[in-house]
Amino acid sequence: MIDKELTTRLLQDMVRINSVNPGLDDLGAGETDVAAWIADLCRSWGLDVELQETAYERPNVIATWRGTGGGQSVLLTGHTDTVSLENMLGDPLDGRVEGNRLYGRGSYDMKGGLASILGAVEALRREGFQPRGDVILGFVTDEEYLSIGTDALVQHIKPDAAILTEPTELRLCIAHKGFAWINLVTHGVAGHGSLYQTGVDAIATMGRLLAALARFEREIFPARQHPLLGRASAHASMISGGLGLSTYPDHARLQVEHRLLPDETGDDVLTLWEDVLDVLTDADSRFNGEVELEFYRPGYEIALDAPIVQTVQNAATEIMGKAPEVYGMWAWLDSAILGRAGIPTVIFGPGGRGAHAAVEWVNLDDVFTCAQVLADAVKAWTS
Ligand SMILES: [Zn+2]
Repeated sequence: MIDKELTTRLLQDMVRINSVNPGLDDLGAGETDVAAWIADLCRSWGLDVELQETAYERPNVIATWRGTGGGQSVLLTGHTDTVSLENMLGDPLDGRVEGNRLYGRGSYDMKGGLASILGAVEALRREGFQPRGDVILGFVTDEEYLSIGTDALVQHIKPDAAILTEPTELRLCIAHKGFAWINLVTHGVAGHGSLYQTGVDAIATMGRLLAALARFEREIFPARQHPLLGRASAHASMISGGLGLSTYPDHARLQVEHRLLPDETGDDVLTLWEDVLDVLTDADSRFNGEVELEFYRPGYEIALDAPIVQTVQNAATEIMGKAPEVYGMWAWLDSAILGRAGIPTVIFGPGGRGAHAAVEWVNLDDVFTCAQVLADAVKAWTS
């Protein structure tokens, strides 16, 4: 049985430790303090604890409960960083409890999920459970920015499966989207605003690329549908250009974000834009544009009948008294990196509200339920 009081206190302690991602916020405290706190706790439980430096003063915690041998290993994982405290209402780190809600930045995304992992392991050890396969706890940095934490983690360990406890409202998440950031530049010819014969307007030219983006949304993306994730999408994120009111602009720059279905890649997006550029260049000799892929993360998908998915589904059905809803998440998650590294991963975590918002809370009952599901799944998987 999960120790609810202890699990609540562990969560409260973690929420009270500032771990704002310094990649998102110059004043961000980073993951050092929360990692040290988790490492101490895991050491006190007798786990083998390693701090893996993912960047200067940004450690992953890898805590291993060694199996007795012959069983499958499992990674229970989640991120220790949070988004900024700015614009939050009240004290963002007070970790106060009201009813079954625990409030504070990171409570929902995703220290609640970390508390479920810790509560599960504490219960299993107290009950005298002996895993045959290793139970590895991975508390990683930087998911909210570039995911250097999980990138480093998969260089170091290769478990047989993973459970990521991002908040899913106790639903079973088996797919999520990827994303790609694209830079588009159009080149014009600068000139006095009266000299239409020689000036080439790079901003007006960029309009043709915006029109292409609208066409993707209208015609291209709706043609492909994923059963859990709907369609791909793209939106203009930022635009700049121009030299002055009386001058033809020599260049314009547009940044676009694409959200991808699991089987779509950054190269697919590049090809889409290159085709557009080719057509526009052929149609108008003065058109001059280029495209570049700035950053890309693939989406993720695992079969419902994959063993780790079935293990968590069975445990959840048993504990919750009904089968958990199976769904896909639109946001990107670290499971894509785990999956790419050959680690079958399922996502299952507590519910709440306010990820990245002014008021954030996690449902404590869900934290306990998730912990119990994890405990039973670990038993079934590693025995
Ligand atoms: Zn998260």
